[in-house]
Amino acid sequence: MVKLPNLLGHAYYVVGLARSGLGAIKALKEAGANLYAWDDRTDAHIEATRLGAKMIAPHKINWQEIKALVLSPGIPHSYPKPHLAAKLAFQQDVPIVCDMDFLFQARPDARFVGVTGTNGKSTTTSLIGHILRRAGRDVEVGGNIGVSALELADLPSGGVYVLEMSSYQLERVPHLRCDIGVFLNLMPDHLERHGGIEGYVKAKRRLLEGVPPPFMIMGAHEAVMQDLFTRAKGEAVAVNLKNTHDKSLYVSQEGALMDTYWEQERIICTLSDLSRNLPGLHNAQNTLAAYGAARRLGLSFDECLDGILSYKGLPHRIERLGVVRGVTFINDSKATNAEATSKALGAFKKISWIVGGKPKEDGLRGVEPYLENVHHAYVIGEAQEAFSDFFSRHHLPHTKCGTLTNAVACAMEDLKNKEGILLLSPACASFDQFLDYEERGNVFREAFEEYVHLDQPRIDL
Ligand code: ADP
Repeated sequence: MVKLPNLLGHAYYVVGLARSGLGAIKALKEAGANLYAWDDRTDAHIEATRLGAKMIAPHKINWQEIKALVLSPGIPHSYPKPHLAAKLAFQQDVPIVCDMDFLFQARPDARFVGVTGTNGKSTTTSLIGHILRRAGRDVEVGGNIGVSALELADLPSGGVYVLEMSSYQLERVPHLRCDIGVFLNLMPDHLERHGGIEGYVKAKRRLLEGVPPPFMIMGAHEAVMQDLFTRAKGEAVAVNLKNTHDKSLYVSQEGALMDTYWEQERIICTLSDLSRNLPGLHNAQNTLAAYGAARRLGLSFDECLDGILSYKGLPHRIERLGVVRGVTFINDSKATNAEATSKALGAFKKISWIVGGKPKEDGLRGVEPYLENVHHAYVIGEAQEAFSDFFSRHHLPHTKCGTLTNAVACAMEDLKNKEGILLLSPACASFDQFLDYEERGNVFREAFEEYVHLDQPRIDL
């Protein structure tokens, strides 16, 4: 656990008692702080009380005493409606922070890489961690990727913390200080939480700020990113799908990942080298960004290449589960919007596609150009009727299956004696039928494993 400076006599109010909230309580308590806490779900109070926090509702707390409100990244402080604790904190001029802010304060001698963007954050964050670890560097990976910033190990001086940062987290780090900022892309997701696209861009732009400004690695594919790239205050390198900048990282027309920034004009690797564990053009972008971060941290070309080629990928992101009865199962449960799903649809051909769940506002808008890669769609969840109408309008053969398990059974029946790709890429949230996208992906994996098990030759004794 990261060791915080002595906080004796300081009081903090931790609101939102899931993983990052509880992590903050542990670390702040250990540093001697006075802790008050709250969660609208009262069953969450038990663990926080056990850790030594006092439960007080937001309207009852003495705000004069509070040094900062530690607000869980999932709780809104502005749009669509601020949580009462955030509203009162604003009124009383109490800063709103997240757990990462304490890490920045506690480790002025460490180096920080912050990764943000709408899609690709987790893949890029974990790839950077892998490349550095493999090259023998001291590195910890955390933040939005699932490990609370304060649960990370205390690295020796000069160690590198690679942090995935959502836009909500970026708004709650007054002590933000990244040596390297990776800003992958910007697409309209979570707009309701920021009061429209401008609020969203503003939140993400925070990564570019800092004194001195970080070295920025920026996707420059969309117009809005191009614009932000030209506004970067410090040194910046563009990551692009075309060769548009003088010195940059890009994908050539022949399908090679190129470096003209640190090298003369050198091929790092090819799309086909990446096809197994980092398939698709979007992953080429993530790979180039991770390569850039590692080079900037002083790793050699060969160390970077070794890390890239030995990376196995993250679960639930275009994850190749294996082949059974000629069908390759691909688990992309993490794709919770049409944009993310388009990437998976663009990476394969003749797809049997399981899609649906709790639909996003934009529905399937944006997948149209990729429908030619789909052989048949199997529709599930709350989105079933709307998506089925969408497919009818686009003349795509489809079946309404209700549940994921049914969809797998239907698709396997249709694919009998044929080779195929069975892709779960829902373009929807999971909450209508599952706890989260991980549970959804695990159910898909279990269905795959069941077929593998059924096919195993039985030994009769
Ligand atoms: P995040 O952490 O930002 O949600 P992930 O790395 O977990 O991103 O990937 C989530 C999904 O987003 C993947 O399944 C993939 O379909 C899509 N994706 C990944 N990288 C990119 C990218 N660079 N651009 C667009 N979409 C991407």
